[in-house]
Amino acid sequence: MTYDSENIFAKILRGEIPCDRVYEDEFALAFHDINPQAPVHILVIPKGDYVSMTDFSANAPAELIAGFFRAVGHVAREQGLEQPGYRILANSGSDAHQEVPHLHIHIFGGRKLGPMLAR
Ligand code: 5GP
Repeated sequence: MTYDSENIFAKILRGEIPCDRVYEDEFALAFHDINPQAPVHILVIPKGDYVSMTDFSANAPAELIAGFFRAVGHVAREQGLEQPGYRILANSGSDAHQEVPHLHIHIFGGRKLGPMLAR
């Protein structure tokens, strides 16, 4: 799948659309989800044109992969989620209901999160 540079997260990265920013470094941007599914619901996106985890893991440079995942862990710690815990999730493709075609990791926390998958 080719990257659509007009997707909403690309526009957020370019500063064309505002976001409620939580954290930013050279590799990643983290911001609150516009439609939170838990008391804490943050999205972390890499600074690069990657559609999904499949695309990112195959094509991103190692430094960006490392920096992106460090940013995810940093945000979780900074939000105080290490204890009592949190969940990360990345939807990829249509079976997973990926809505925005720019890789994003959801961080959920702030309540008991229940079983891993909705049935
Ligand atoms: P997906 O289903 O692709 O894994 O998740 C996309 C997420 O992006 C959804 O949870 C949705 O609420 C969030 N989202 C969609 N548009 C925007 C937006 O413009 N701003 C923010 N902050 N979140 C968005």
